Order: sequence, then C-alpha cells, then structure tokens
Amino acid sequence: MLVGAGPGDPGLLTLRALRALNEADVILHDRLVSAEVLQLARRDANRIEVGKQAGHHHTTQDGIHALLLEHARAGLRVVRLKGGDPFVFGRGGEELEFLRAHGIPYEVVPGITAAVACAAYAGVPLTHRGHAQSVRFITAHGHASHDALDWAALAQERQTLAVYMGVAELGQLQQQLIAHGRAPSTPFALVENGSRPQQRVVCGTLAQLIQRAATHAVQSPALLILGEVAALATSLAWFGEPPLGASVHPLPRARPGRRPRAAAGEPLGAIQRA
Ligand code: SAH
Repeated sequence: MLVGAGPGDPGLLTLRALRALNEADVILHDRLVSAEVLQLARRDANRIEVGKQAGHHHTTQDGIHALLLEHARAGLRVVRLKGGDPFVFGRGGEELEFLRAHGIPYEVVPGITAAVACAAYAGVPLTHRGHAQSVRFITAHGHASHDALDWAALAQERQTLAVYMGVAELGQLQQQLIAHGRAPSTPFALVENGSRPQQRVVCGTLAQLIQRAATHAVQSPALLILGEVAALATSLAWFGEPPLGASVHPLPRARPGRRPRAAAGEPLGAIQRA
C-alpha cells in the first residue's frame, strides 16, 4: 500500500492511512514522516527508514524497489509511507510502475500535501478572489530542474507558486523570477516545519527572500508560498508563533472592479473584515 502520511501533524492523517498503519507488518518510510505519525503504527511492525535528503542518499530508488518486492513476496503487509501525498513530488508513480511490472497488487491512500498543509497552517489561502486564480506546485531541487522550468510562465502575476525545495535553491528562484518580470515587491511566506509544533513562518517580499531566509536560518523541510496571497499571512495567521518579518512588505492592490467589497489600495487582509 502506498500511503500519504501528511505533513507531520498526526491529526492530518486520513482514517484509511491510520488503518493501514495499524495493520502493516512492514513500514518503509521516508525521513520526512514525523515520529508522531510513526508512533501510530502497530508496535511490532518492522519500521525501515528509506529516506532521502538532498546530499545524503540513504537508500537508492532501486534499493527501495528491491525492499518493496522482497517484503511483498514474503507475503507481508507492506506500507510504503511517504511524507505529504505520495503522488506530489514523492516518486510514488515510479514505485507503482515497478510494482505493476512485477505483478504486485497495490492501493494508494492520498495524504495532505505540504503546500495545502503549510498554506492552511500559515493562514495563506492558495487562491483568493481577485488576487490569485491559480496555484502551481513546483519543485526546484537541483540545477537540472531549474533549466527545465518555464520561468516566464512562473513569473506571471495573480498566481500562487507553492515551491517544494531545498532552502539552498532560493537564490536561483529569486533571481530567475525577478529576471522574468515578477515584481520584487511580491509577497512570500516561507513555512518551515509546517503543521508541526516547531512551525515557523518567515514573510517578506521576493526582493528580501534570500536575506530573510538567511537571517532566520530557515531549515528543511520548508515550503515557499509566493504570490499576492502570501500577504494574508500577516492578518490570517492562527497557528504557532506569529509570522517573522511580516510588517515590512507593501500590500498588493487589486485591479478595479475585481474586488467589490474592499476599496483599492486597502490591505488585502481587509477583505476578510469587510
Ligand atoms: N510528497 C511530499 C513532498 C515531498 S518533497 C508532499 O506531498 O508534501 C519534500 C519537500 O516537501 C520538502 O523539501 C519541503 O519543501 C516540502 N515539505 C514536506 N513537508 C513539509 C513540512 N511539514 N513543512 C514544510 N515543507 C514541507
């Protein structure tokens, strides 16, 4: 069974994921899966960490495939547990292709992906009438993926980028987006350890991104939310510590006629109170 573990808070597991954890003989989990979630597994389950972190490859993808096959062929109930959702930057597709090729039956249990969880726990709606009509989930791990990204499309206004990435990639991202026309004043919210007790949210503008991340020593796992909506973190935050550096960025203006309930120039957060 390929199971999404969500972003860390065990309350965000699905009931189906919980049942799978209770029944599993073997759990092959990523490093990203929180200890609180793993504690919900059957006590005698064999837990194997096969996590990968940028730079530290514990188990290769082939190694993971081999482990899946070995345990499934032994007739054990195997849960492949992944942080967030298995089909969002989780290589879940590759693992299923492998299982299919070897005639092993499977099920997939979705999980709450980091973008959705971080947005919720930072008080940043990913879409918001008049300010963002679309949201893109992107990843910027490694230089090869930078070259493959359509920066001109990503730099467009009125869309939200949810960037899954290593903190080391922020420089490239800032540079490319500004070079392709995204306003340096575009707000961001960088969410570290989203939904976990130690969650931190760092806010600012695209121009300040690198400096802010460095000042607050943001560590992995962190998700970047970039776009007009990120300004709402200032007014809608509800979980954990208030956002760091929230007061400095200018608030975006809506185009006339797009925002009937708040006057142009009013802070975006005012919509909520209107
Ligand atoms: N399948 C996962 C994503 C795996 S890629 C999912 O659907 O969420 C790993 C990246 O996800 C991390 O580098 C980070 O950008 C993001 N991430 C995962 N959990 C996170 C969390 N609790 N807080 C912030 N970012 C997180």
